[in-house]
Amino acid sequence: MTTIFKKIIEKEVSAEVVYENESLIVIKDIHPQAPIHLLIIPKKEIANLQAMEKKDLNILQEVALTAQKLAQKFQCEDGYRLLTNNGEKAGQTVFHLHFHFLAGRTLGDLA
Ligand code: 5GP
Repeated sequence: MTTIFKKIIEKEVSAEVVYENESLIVIKDIHPQAPIHLLIIPKKEIANLQAMEKKDLNILQEVALTAQKLAQKFQCEDGYRLLTNNGEKAGQTVFHLHFHFLAGRTLGDLA
């Protein structure tokens, strides 16, 4: 099923893009839960972490490296959170794999 993130990737829907390369896009979350709340979105259509296949695991490496670069760019190397909600019960609302990058305040229990 086509999600809002696919439409953002295809530029059918606008978003504030922070970074983009051939395999992922980073945008600002429309409802930020922290002063810095970015979404790292791999372009490949995969519903969530649980749906990932072994051949796609290189995506996780790239997500981690991108998070490191974002931490440098936004000067929050000393404190940020990277998380993914897997499934409705975990709070996932958009079923296209994505990682929340949160920083800019002391982060409590919840994103
Ligand atoms: P999830 O709940 O699936 O883990 O995260 C989905 C995130 O996408 C939410 O934090 C929500 O605010 C964000 N989001 C949903 N629709 C849009 C949109 O159209 N644009 C942007 N920039 N973020 C969105």
